[in-house]
Amino acid sequence: DVPRLLKMQGCQGNTLPAAPRRARCCLHVENPSMKARVVIVGSYVQDLSFYVAEFARPGETLPADLRPGAGGKGFNQAVAATQAGVPTLFIGAIGHDAAGAGARDFARQHGVRAEFVVKKKEPTGVASIAINAAGQNQILVALGANLALHIRDVPIRPLTGAEVVVCQAESDMKTAAHVLRTARRQGAVTIFNPAPMHAKVDLAILRHVEVLIPNEAEFVALVNRSPRSGLKNFTTEALLRLAPDRLHALCRTFNVPIVIVTLGARGCFVSQPDVYARVNAHGVDAVDTTGAGDAFVGGFAAGLVKFNKNVFEAAHFANAVAALAVTRHGTASGMPTAREIARFLR
Ligand code: ADP
Repeated sequence: DVPRLLKMQGCQGNTLPAAPRRARCCLHVENPSMKARVVIVGSYVQDLSFYVAEFARPGETLPADLRPGAGGKGFNQAVAATQAGVPTLFIGAIGHDAAGAGARDFARQHGVRAEFVVKKKEPTGVASIAINAAGQNQILVALGANLALHIRDVPIRPLTGAEVVVCQAESDMKTAAHVLRTARRQGAVTIFNPAPMHAKVDLAILRHVEVLIPNEAEFVALVNRSPRSGLKNFTTEALLRLAPDRLHALCRTFNVPIVIVTLGARGCFVSQPDVYARVNAHGVDAVDTTGAGDAFVGGFAAGLVKFNKNVFEAAHFANAVAALAVTRHGTASGMPTAREIARFLR
């Protein structure tokens, strides 16, 4: 009963309040031997994060601090869901190289199930991420092996046993469509995060999606691509000016049961056929917002399992996972643990 839940959580109008800021505690890894309740099929990328005072201009060379780490939208989401306390299986593709070996090591150390990750002749994906003093980022990504993840690389069995199945747009889109179609037929909640939004994202994939989670830029691109929206030149500025009922109406044009638009430091907007609300972000001092969307999506998938498919509770939980993630450097390595999230929300 969502309206009752909104009331219980102190919802004023159509907005849920954020939890107060809390301190962090120590690392807590969940038992990896349990059956995967969330399956995430997507990308693994080795992140090379360069911390700079300001971004380099064309032709300029600048000194930077380098922090290499595990990343990729699919993998980040799998780490977020696992650490949030829900057994999660990651399925993706890596190369026969040191970066690929790093993926397996990271998964093992953090309790992410990764037994179906395949090795391809292409190199493991690599991202060059520049982060300036304001915490903004510029990212270049070479997806390599991720684009070679084929339908036959994804076994059916884990998809049929999962409660929630998640795909993004950083690997082969035919494979993503196949995974979501199969999972939905089997009764799993299917989540599609259209990130990054690019020309190969065919909107026909939305037929297999139960929860669509774009950020503001991806939402704008989807609206401009969707014939049912009737808009062609929609912009992020126009999105920011939209009244909640108009935003809700635009979300409904995708014909997807649940649409969640992430709004950075303002939290997210949740739209279902009969109810919509903005769920406020939690106030934190952000140091690196790279991977915030991944923290949200992984946290939301875990939240659906934890809160018995209650979308608003899951969104509130996802905001907390992402809020903690943006207070730390790195993407996969910045995901909070179940204990940290519980303390933060207490
Ligand atoms: P993306 O990383 O895909 O651009 P957003 O910027 O919309 O995604 O952020 C995703 C989620 O991360 C938000 O919905 C919010 O929960 C959280 N978040 C992002 N930035 C902040 C911030 N500065 N403070 C608190 N939470 C944040």
